[in-house]
Parts: sequence; C-alpha cells; structure tokens
Amino acid sequence: MRLFVALVPPEELRRNLERQGRGLRALCQRGRMVPWENIHLTLAFLGETDRRAGAERAMERATGAPFSLPTTRPGRFSGKKGDLWWMGVEERPPLLALRRRLVRALVEEEVWLDDAKSFRPHLTLGRDLRPLPGADLTAWAAACPTCTWRVEELILMESCRDEGGLRYIPLSHRPMGK
Ligand code: ATP
Ligand code: MG
Repeated sequence: MRLFVALVPPEELRRNLERQGRGLRALCQRGRMVPWENIHLTLAFLGETDRRAGAERAMERATGAPFSLPTTRPGRFSGKKGDLWWMGVEERPPLLALRRRLVRALVEEEVWLDDAKSFRPHLTLGRDLRPLPGADLTAWAAACPTCTWRVEELILMESCRDEGGLRYIPLSHRPMGK
C-alpha cells in the first residue's frame, strides 16, 4: 500500500481553499485542482510499504499537545507539465518538532520514509497549472486570505488510484495529546 501521514484542516478551511483554487484555475488555461475532500498536509511520505502497524505505533509515540497552525500565502513549485500551486503554512516550532518526532519514531519502528526531499509543509491547491497569457497570478496570490487551524490529530492515509481517480483513504486517526 502507498501510505503517508497527513494533517487535515477542518472542512470549512478545506472548502475555502478549494474556492481560492477556483479563482486560480480561472486565470489558467489548464490545471487539475484538488477537490476539498483531498486537501491535506503531508507530514511524512512512506511510499509503497507493508508496515502499517509500525507506522501506527510511530504515530502514537510522536503526538504531542495540539497546536495552532496559521496558513501563510500561496506559492508554487515548477514542473514540466505546469506549476503546482499550494497554500503555505507557518513552519512553527510545534510543527517542526512533530515532524522530527515522527521521523525518529518511524525509523525506530523500521518504517522507512520515501521522503528524500527536504520537508516543505504545504497544502496543495492544484497541479499542472499553466497561466493564461497576461494573467496576474501574483495579484491573485496577494489577495488570498490566510487563516489559522488547530492541529488535533495525525491521520495515516492510503493513496489509491482507481476508476474514481485519486482517493486518500484515512486508515487510522491518532489524536494529539493522548
Ligand atoms: P499524484 O501523484 O497522483 O498526482 P498525489 O501526489 O496527491 O497525487 P501521492 O503521490 O500518492 O498522491 O502522494 C500522497 C501525498 O504524499 C501527497 O501530499 C504528495 O505531495 C506527497 N508525496 C508524494 N511523494 C513524495 C515524496 N517523495 N516526498 C514527500 N512527499 C511526497
Ligand atoms: Mg504524487
């Protein structure tokens, strides 16, 4: 199974981000937007693995107190087919400490990460986006509102691709502070 550990913002924030993504899509000639149901922050990407039980033990050991996490501004990663646009989050000490604890616990449980890139916490809004000629994406990004959400649980997700497209299936929830 293809697994990752995710933080998932409340539905209201995900719906807001989907709405902001629609504004971005309108400035583009093409692009695949993330539906609100799929909006998440990847805390650790495990990739193809059969170590679900070890991942769950690591999540249990990694949780700390719940904390607030503000979104920042949108940004993008450039790709061959177009740009991936995301909403940033503040790289606050509790988030970075949570990631550190999780990585350490995963390694101790012999669950290997497929996470070679450095940790860049973000909420992906859309992929393969190609702006329309003359579209002002900087102005769109500057006008995006920010907000804060409370991180209260870690979720082990399975990433599945089937006839319905890409789906993330929550396999287990690990509340913070327990
Ligand atoms: P798709 O790859 O089908 O376009 P996706 O990237 O959302 O969609 P997955 O590739 O299964 O689906 O990835 C699940 C999550 O893990 C996503 O948030 C993705 O950004 C992240 N992820 C995937 N590969 C890595 C990696 N090598 N390092 C860090 N995060 C990754
Ligand atoms: Mg991917």
